[in-house]
Amino acid sequence: MWGTDSDGFARSSDVVRFIVDYAAEIEAPVYTGVEVTSLSPGEGNGGYAIETTNGPINAQHVVIATGPFQRPLIPDFGRAIPLVVYQTDTSHYRNAAELPPGSVLVVGTGNSGCQIADELLHSGLRVLLAVSRHRRGPRRYRGKDLMWWLEKLGSFDLNVDTFANRRYPPSIIHTGVNGGYDLDPRRLGNSGVRLAGRVIGASGDTLGFADNLEGLIAAADQSYEDFIQAAEKLADTLEIGSELGQVHELAPRPPLGVEGFCTLNLRDENIRTIIWANGFGYSFDWVKLPILDADGAPVQRQGVTACPGIYFLGLHWMHTFGSGILPFVGRDAAYLADHIDRLGH
Ligand SMILES: Cc1cc2nc3c(=O)[nH]c(=O)nc-3n(C[C@H](O)[C@H](O)[C@H](O)COP(=O)(O)OP(=O)(O)OC[C@H]3O[C@@H](n4cnc5c(N)ncnc54)[C@H](O)[C@@H]3O)c2cc1C
Repeated sequence: MWGTDSDGFARSSDVVRFIVDYAAEIEAPVYTGVEVTSLSPGEGNGGYAIETTNGPINAQHVVIATGPFQRPLIPDFGRAIPLVVYQTDTSHYRNAAELPPGSVLVVGTGNSGCQIADELLHSGLRVLLAVSRHRRGPRRYRGKDLMWWLEKLGSFDLNVDTFANRRYPPSIIHTGVNGGYDLDPRRLGNSGVRLAGRVIGASGDTLGFADNLEGLIAAADQSYEDFIQAAEKLADTLEIGSELGQVHELAPRPPLGVEGFCTLNLRDENIRTIIWANGFGYSFDWVKLPILDADGAPVQRQGVTACPGIYFLGLHWMHTFGSGILPFVGRDAAYLADHIDRLGH
């Protein structure tokens, strides 16, 4: 989705231009290359003291918008893996040519993991993929892009509080490469990628995997069918329903033509690279305020924290699915602006 074109894809230069234009339009003083090194209670005035690499600032209100994906979550057992194996993560991966020769294990089947595994496969490398929770949906359905359907289905408005313990569902995997197409770990498996379940440990040259591959694939199949059902139900109610493309008959699920494995010898498999694509955590050691939980994650409701005047914005699933993506973050921003305005400082 880009601008008003729900089928459009933005290039990184489009996004940069959008942000530069936006800064110019609102005439905000923008300081680039400045790091906030500490945020703590101010002295006396009830505000906050901010230390930066450009000197101190005092503020009554602080919106922490430092991004949803701050620190790759590489498990501790990664340190037990022999140094001969090059370990990297999705934020550092650039392309297949930069990897050492040999097979590659990609850990995790969010969008990044699936897209990287797909790219490596197309580059001719031997790829192994540790599958994790994921959902699937068609890149295009009845002539419309997945994003169009998700918006019409209200998916971006789904409130995180509707899920038990705020445990929101995993991402729907797809790709925008070459105009976009569906991604499916099963299809990758049937095209030669070796599949396993979650990585659960490492000891010397051996990696252990959970025996949950089939369950993960089945749950993703179900999510795909749920999407089609919901889309069809919605299509019946849409004014433009008759203009949509033909109903897709659900093709029978191809069999999972590969057998998962529970242990893997890195040396025997000639695995020279592991790409951790298992998600990101937060990195708020510079925040000296009681607004983080025991894991260092923000404690907030729609961006509002227990410290008056301190807010978060742009976190993944902060309030809704839309909170962490560019077209919808404005709704949370407007809510916070209103909140700050009502405080009247
Ligand atoms: C692989 C990937 C694909 C994505 N695809 C899409 C997509 O297709 N569509 C979409 O809408 N969204 C997509 N997103 C999400 C999108 O990137 C984020 O929603 C967006 O970047 C969030 O913007 P932000 O400004 O909140 O955070 P960021 O873009 O992460 O910016 C945060 C900034 O804060 C800075 N910062 C951090 N700590 C400090 C500090 N202490 N002091 C000063 N500065 C600090 C960081 O250096 C960074 O510049 C994708 C994300 C990823 C990782």
